[in-house]
Amino acid sequence: MTDPAPSPIGDRPIAGAHRQRRGFGVDVGGSGIKGGVVDLDTGALIGERFKLPTPSPATPVAVAQTVAAVVRDFGWTGPLGVTYPGVVVDGVVRTAANVDKSWIGLNAQETIAAELDGQEVVILNDADAAGLAEERFGAGKGNSGVVVLLTFGTGIGSAVIHNGKLLPNTELGHIEVGGKEAEHRAAASVKERKKWSMEKWAKQVTMVLIAIENALCPDLIIVGGGISRKADQWVPLLGNRTPVVAATLQNSAGIVGAAMASATDVTR
Ligand code: BGC
Repeated sequence: MTDPAPSPIGDRPIAGAHRQRRGFGVDVGGSGIKGGVVDLDTGALIGERFKLPTPSPATPVAVAQTVAAVVRDFGWTGPLGVTYPGVVVDGVVRTAANVDKSWIGLNAQETIAAELDGQEVVILNDADAAGLAEERFGAGKGNSGVVVLLTFGTGIGSAVIHNGKLLPNTELGHIEVGGKEAEHRAAASVKERKKWSMEKWAKQVTMVLIAIENALCPDLIIVGGGISRKADQWVPLLGNRTPVVAATLQNSAGIVGAAMASATDVTR
């Protein structure tokens, strides 16, 4: 258990401080479900994150109960945002590329809300959440125009944002690039499985980036996921046209983006 978030949380006023707008986000990942209180004006986490292991198998009810346990650890009673690694429309899950297939067709919003005390829950795609956070508070801060965030992990997640407005559920990891699905070509998991060098993997990533920039003409591409911590070893090897920068919020991007989504429904 981590330390609880500093009191007060939620809507309670802070003595001697300006009134902060606070939100709560939960990031559901393959190995951990982590949550935290977020300052919505700065994108900073208030206090520590709290993380529980992702249940195995990661069935909807088991995940919903773990999300609720994370929320309860903070005593958070307001609206919250929760990420999901697939397409989510109006709280309903449409795809499950790398997770338990029992999620498909499920109203994740209702399933998670049922484990909480009637709190408002917004569910959004994990990469969309990371993209919102990076665009506003991280690597995309101060950039206007079209920003594309790609997360490289087990699969490839994407977020497309235009002047701060998200185009939800873009799923660029599933476009076909050179006869192969982008995430089967260039996810970080492919590099690991095939024991590729950075050079070899960067060629595959370049193909994916060129396909995306040919279609969308982004002004900036942000690369995230665990492997972006080593961005200095592979971003300079990329041969595409659009400037590529590494995500800066790392572990907190999903939590921050989910909290942003709960404050303003950016998923529609
Ligand atoms: C899913 C995306 C998700 C990404 C990263 C892909 O396989 O289709 O929705 O954002 O993995 O988790």
